[in-house]
Amino acid sequence: MLPRNAFASIRGARAGASASARSLSTRASSILNALDIPTTSEVPGMYDGQWRGSGDILESVCPTTGEVLARVQSASPRELHEALEKSSEAHLVLRKLPAPKRGELLRQIREALAVKRDALGALVSLEMGKIKTEGIGEVQEFVDICDYAVGLSRMMNGRVVASERPGHTILEVPNPLGVVGVLTAFNFPVAVYGWNFSLSFAAGNANVWKPSPSTPLCAIAVTKIIADVLERNGLPGAISSLVTGGKDVGEAVVNSADVPLVSFTGSEAVGRVVGKAVQSRFGKTILELGGNNASIIMPDADLSMAVPAVFFGAVGTAGQRCTSTRRLYLHRDIAPHFLDALQKLYASVRVGDPLVTGTLLGPLHTRAAVGIYSNAVQRLRENGAQILTGGQRYDEGGLRQGNFVQPTIAIPNSAEPTDAIWGTETFAPILNVGIFDELEQAIAWNNAVPQGLSSSLWTRDIRHLGKWIGPEGSDTGIVNVNVGTSGAEIGAAFGGNKSTGWGRESGGDAWKQYVRWSACTINFSDAAPLAQGVDFST
Ligand code: NAD
Repeated sequence: MLPRNAFASIRGARAGASASARSLSTRASSILNALDIPTTSEVPGMYDGQWRGSGDILESVCPTTGEVLARVQSASPRELHEALEKSSEAHLVLRKLPAPKRGELLRQIREALAVKRDALGALVSLEMGKIKTEGIGEVQEFVDICDYAVGLSRMMNGRVVASERPGHTILEVPNPLGVVGVLTAFNFPVAVYGWNFSLSFAAGNANVWKPSPSTPLCAIAVTKIIADVLERNGLPGAISSLVTGGKDVGEAVVNSADVPLVSFTGSEAVGRVVGKAVQSRFGKTILELGGNNASIIMPDADLSMAVPAVFFGAVGTAGQRCTSTRRLYLHRDIAPHFLDALQKLYASVRVGDPLVTGTLLGPLHTRAAVGIYSNAVQRLRENGAQILTGGQRYDEGGLRQGNFVQPTIAIPNSAEPTDAIWGTETFAPILNVGIFDELEQAIAWNNAVPQGLSSSLWTRDIRHLGKWIGPEGSDTGIVNVNVGTSGAEIGAAFGGNKSTGWGRESGGDAWKQYVRWSACTINFSDAAPLAQGVDFST
């Protein structure tokens, strides 16, 4: 539940919200102060070596209490253009630094992030709404990917290829691209930029970040930490520019010919527009879009692990992870027992202020998301689904001021995956359940939706495991066994297939997308033969 004093101070803050001098709740101001974010005036929301912003005002609203946390001055079109120019110039400096030197800067950024880890994690919790341990975990993910990129800075190797011609050799050489545009979603307001920035920076690129318009403070706090390290090292801040703003700012980055690579994380609908726009100018994209992830529980699964994993997957982050579990396929033999145990966990969920230790369920990020949740529940009801638990807003006591909804388990009246109920990502804690008899049927259902991000099979049978991860198995980018759909480590490449966009970020070979590759044939002989023995002699 929310602390009493949170509301007392918030009432005052609301009254003064539109004035430039504000009185924030103690809860909010202590977090913003710890991150050097002004609490008394409007906050400059763009950085390219200098902090400013004369575009539209963005309001950062706490999803837990409705308190206006800040009024942020976004980037105007002219400022955006300036940021792109400055980032292009900054890239000319960065590309001359040897990669291991860039790694040393990343090490310093990693240290600076680690120092502010708890404060930044608390800000994620305050502004986005996820519980504090997840907010801190998100910053830890940025720290981890910095570590990874420090190592990578000494291993971004090309290749030496055997030439068919005597006295020749062929090299495959990676070089930086220039400026990378990073557009991010509200639900991971720190980590997604971290994944992109770390690899892109290690590869020698400058970056322009366009965060979600509803989480500008997280972006400002991260940019301040990075900018401080760059400036201390005498490097241009525009190596990591920030342009807060809405759709128009996003479109301008996407359509800029000065941005060879756009890394976009967000919904399928916007990703489709972004993908086409960048393709039409022959730019490169990394698309990380919506997920619609399933867990399949076989009768031989260890339910003492599977039930809590499904609970976390479906209810964690209030169902607002791209990897959240949205579909649960239960083998008929264990379905009643599984649902019983799962409902007991749902009944025990502690809902309230995500900043309070012990809270498991925070709010949805916006009021609009509450409407989307309610419409989805309504559609389930109209279609004859059985709602086992949930289905309502929480509107008692302090929860009424925030966007709190009950985690919901539904059994739709048909498990037919062509039904829109199964094929659409609703970004809220709604878990739809289907009952199957054969693994093959469950795999077919798993694969029948447009999205292809994450999936998870629970079994002790190695034959099921082999089928699941092989050519007849799951078609998603993340294919887990006895591990839930939600949450991933940075070491493997992260991303999804089909309408999730085919993008890969973070570990694995993801870094290879942030460079331009050249095949260089070098002749160190005294003859100039043509390939394939072609004779063009006169
Ligand atoms: P969104 O698509 O509404 O917004 C994402 C970003 O795009 C924001 O910065 C937004 O301002 C910008 N934008 C909006 N219209 C634009 C346009 N026409 N051109 C350019 N930019 C534009 O997404 P959201 O609601 O912030 O995030 C939730 C979605 O993100 C979910 O679908 C979730 O699954 C997905 N997501 C995917 C991953 C992944 O790795 N696959 C990770 C996190 C979130």
